[in-house]
Amino acid sequence: MNIKQKALLGLAIIVIIGLVLYFLPNNHSEITSYIIDAQYNDQDKAISATQTVRYTNTNDIPLKAIYFHLYPNAFKSQENLPFTKEELPFAYPDGFQSGFIEIGKVTFDNDLPATYELEEPNGEILKVTLPKELEKGEVIQINMSYKVQLPPCRSRFGYGKNTVQLGNWYPIVSVFDKNGWNNDPYYIFGDPFYSDIANYKVKLTIPKDIVVASTGEIKEEKNYGDSKKLVIEAKKVRDFAMVLSPKFKVAEKEIDGIKVKSYYFTEEYGNKALKFAGDAIKFYNDYIGRYPYKQYSVVQTDFYMGGMEYPNLVMISKDLYTKANLFNLEYIIAHETAHQWWYGVVGNNQIRESWLDEGLTEYSTILYIERYYGKATAEEVYRLVIEGEFNKFLKTNSDISFAKTLADFKEWKEYTNIAYNKGAMVFHNLRRLIGEEEFKKVLQTFYETYKYKIATTQNLIDVVDNVTGRDTGGFFQEWFY
Ligand SMILES: [Zn+2]
Repeated sequence: MNIKQKALLGLAIIVIIGLVLYFLPNNHSEITSYIIDAQYNDQDKAISATQTVRYTNTNDIPLKAIYFHLYPNAFKSQENLPFTKEELPFAYPDGFQSGFIEIGKVTFDNDLPATYELEEPNGEILKVTLPKELEKGEVIQINMSYKVQLPPCRSRFGYGKNTVQLGNWYPIVSVFDKNGWNNDPYYIFGDPFYSDIANYKVKLTIPKDIVVASTGEIKEEKNYGDSKKLVIEAKKVRDFAMVLSPKFKVAEKEIDGIKVKSYYFTEEYGNKALKFAGDAIKFYNDYIGRYPYKQYSVVQTDFYMGGMEYPNLVMISKDLYTKANLFNLEYIIAHETAHQWWYGVVGNNQIRESWLDEGLTEYSTILYIERYYGKATAEEVYRLVIEGEFNKFLKTNSDISFAKTLADFKEWKEYTNIAYNKGAMVFHNLRRLIGEEEFKKVLQTFYETYKYKIATTQNLIDVVDNVTGRDTGGFFQEWFY
């Protein structure tokens, strides 16, 4: 063959391999997919939507029903809100109004009507009974329509004077694991969410002047009169969140081929937020492993709680965008960005093992400080903010077990000291025990092994033992019991 014939043959082989791979069944079909078509009404602060979910049973046990979380219903009545008494004036500065989700029609494939019920007291869980048991490997499609009413709440779900926060706003499938369905309500403390990796396609109709920050990437944007239609896609993410505002300005830069974006109201601090986010992505990419998505957004939000992580997007309290709060802003952005690795890519049960992602995330933040401010500053921050705070807490509290679920915590201080501070202390002491090199390898191996999966404390201990060739059971035993 001459060179040209060889090249043509090579090309033909590549095309054939490509076609075979394209048509081969792949494990992506096991990932739950959501197609959501949502219309946002800014006057009423409401959304009407249709949603199609394709769910594969990946468990050995046949399923009789599929459960969804309806988190907006935690905001329905004043008696059951997911806030402490002290938080209420910050969450609802203009007074309480109800937020909720109303489920309309639910059907299966071919428009077959479904039987469904809401579980009381708040209707936070939707149970859809299946027409027949779903065996392992079988797929079911569930279609539903719903209306979401946003409350005037400065938290993950609601709206303030500047932004509309859409965290945990649509029906999301519960996780089925060795404990069965995880149908926990929206607890007051921690981040009471636990979900599997899924693919999303969200079509959003919205007034033309509103800027949308979201999980995934905006693939299409077209104007129709006073409104616009967006098509947003997100692959292999644990949740889908958005923040809306007509006031947003946007700054962006590229870090390691990732588009990092800052949505803000004031230029000076918006640019600072962009720098911190970029620095954090860069450092965690190098230290832990590559951020596997194309985009990451840090969003100034009407949010009184500091920061909140969602896949590809973090909500940061607008009050941190000031000169006096600059170090806090950096610390919180570094923390929420680390959650992209711990919670986002590597998932865990945040209700039963909140220490795992919070401890890893908080200690990753200390590593970030060490990278950009040096060892002495990092040591000082660790000593004051983590160890110091925890020792203070220890003086008046003896029950510091990691075995608590989010239902067991009684105050924020208890939660942050156990999940964040004691959690970070485990990793600080582990690093001392096994040394810098192996510690880094532990984080990298844990990340690669549990990418897009759910990891447990035992999985972490196994990784530590495999990487170091030691039995660190005794070390962890001491921290746990
Ligand atoms: Zn956190």
